[in-house]
Amino acid sequence: MASVQTPLRPAGLDPQASGRIQAGVARVGLWLRDHQAAIRRVQWTIIVAYVALLVAPLLAPMPTRLSHIWSNAVLFAQFVFWGIWWPFVLVSMVLVGRSWCGLFCPEGALAEAASRHGLGRAIPHWIKWRGWPFVAFASTTIYGQMVSVYQYPKPVIVVLGGSTLAAMVVGFLYGHDKRVWCRYLCPVNGVFALLSKLAPLHYAVDNQAWHAWRHRPGKPPPFVNCAPLVPIRIMQGASACHMCGRCAGFKQAVALEIRSPSHEIVHVAGGEPKSWETFLIVFGLMGLAAGAFQWASSPLFVTVRQKFAEWLVEHGGIAMIELRLPWWILTNYPDQNDMMTPLDGTLMIGYVLGIACLTTAAVSAALALSTRALGPFQIARFHHLAQCLIPMAGCGLFLGLSMTTVTLLRSEGLPLGFVGDLRISLLGGATLWCLWLAWQVSACYSASTARRLASSAGIGAAVLSGAFNWWLLFWAW
Ligand code: SF4
Repeated sequence: MASVQTPLRPAGLDPQASGRIQAGVARVGLWLRDHQAAIRRVQWTIIVAYVALLVAPLLAPMPTRLSHIWSNAVLFAQFVFWGIWWPFVLVSMVLVGRSWCGLFCPEGALAEAASRHGLGRAIPHWIKWRGWPFVAFASTTIYGQMVSVYQYPKPVIVVLGGSTLAAMVVGFLYGHDKRVWCRYLCPVNGVFALLSKLAPLHYAVDNQAWHAWRHRPGKPPPFVNCAPLVPIRIMQGASACHMCGRCAGFKQAVALEIRSPSHEIVHVAGGEPKSWETFLIVFGLMGLAAGAFQWASSPLFVTVRQKFAEWLVEHGGIAMIELRLPWWILTNYPDQNDMMTPLDGTLMIGYVLGIACLTTAAVSAALALSTRALGPFQIARFHHLAQCLIPMAGCGLFLGLSMTTVTLLRSEGLPLGFVGDLRISLLGGATLWCLWLAWQVSACYSASTARRLASSAGIGAAVLSGAFNWWLLFWAW
C-alpha cells in the first residue's frame, strides 16, 4: 500500500527490506482489528485491578517506617499508580503512540461501555471547547498538590475515581459507543496528544487508495467505529488516534506504519497551528508541572512562607496558619503530622503559577526570537516552533513523576546511585531532540543556513529555560 506520509526507511535497508518491515507492522494493525474481543477482555481485567488499587488502600492501615511496598496496600498502590503506571504510560506515548488509550486504559474502556448503553445525546458545544486539555491538566495538577494525591489513598479516589466516574457519566449521556470524555475532557488528553506526535508508529491513511476503493455490490457497507471520534479519512498524525486498530485495512487505505519520529512535528504540526497546544507545552508542562514538583523543595518557598507567617501573626491573620480544612480541600492528616494550612495552600498555588508565568515569559521570548530569525514574525510559525519543545516538556514531566518511583525504591534500600546520571542523560537527550526538530522545522521556512542556525539557537534558549527548573530541583537544592 502506498503511503501519503513519509514512512521511516531504516538506515541501510533496501526498499524491499523496508517494505517487508512495513508489511509486518501493518499485519500487527490487522491483528489488533481482528482481536477486539480479546482486547476488551484485557481491558476488563485491567478495570478489576484498577478498582482494587483504588479501593484496597482505603481499607488498609497507613504505612509506618517499617512498611514495605509488598507488605502495605497503601504503599503498593502508591508505587503502582504513581511509580510505574503514570510515568511509564507517558513513555509509552513516545514509543507506541496512544496504544495505552485504545488498548488498555480502564477509564476509556468504561466510558465507551457506558456510552454503548447510554442515552446517545448529541455532544454539546461546551464539551468541544479547545481549552479543556489545558484547563483539565492544570486544575488536576494543582488540585493534586493541594490534597497530596501522591501520598494518600483518599485523594486518589477523588482524583482518579472522580475522573473515571465523570468519564462514565459523560459517556452515558453523549455519543453512542464513543469515548467523548477521552476525546475532549480527559485531563491527560492534551499531554498524550502532544507526546504521541513523537511516536514512530501511526495509522497512515492512503488518500488515493481511499478514493479508488469501490464498494462491492452485495457486500455490507464497510463500517468502523472509531471510539475517540477521529475523522479517519483526513487523519494525518497520531495525536488524536487511540491506536485501537479497528480501522486497520479500512477501504484498503489505512495501515499501521512506521514513520520518522520527527515526521508529525515537522510536516504536520505546522499546517494546523494550535495556540492551546503551545500554551499546554510552555505554561502547562514546562512551567506549571515543574512548579508543582518543585515547590516543596524550594528554599524560596520556605523563606516566603516564614515571612508571611510572621506578618500574619503580627497583623491578626492567625486563622491562615491555624485553620484546618477538610482533606479533600487541603492536605489534613494530623496522625501523619502532615497538614497544609490555608497559608501553605495559597502560597503553593501562588508559587506554582509564579513559576509557570516566569517560565512562560522566558520560553516565549526565546521562541519569539527563534520565529523572527526565520523572517517577519508570524504567529503560525511561532506555534509550529513551539512544537519542537515537546521532547523537553515530556521529559520534564517524566522526571517529575518518576521522583515518586525513585523515592519509594530508595526507601526499600535499592541502590539508585545512577539516577542522577540518568536524569542528566534524559535531559541532554531531550535537548538534542528539540534542537534536531528545530533544525528540521526551520527548513520549512528558510533555506538560509544562518537563519536556521539562529532559529535553532532560539529553541536552544527556550529548552534551557525549561531545563533550568529541573536543574534547580534535582541539583541546586
Ligand atoms: S483512527 Fe480511530 S479507529 Fe483508527 S486506530 Fe485510531 S482510534 Fe482506532
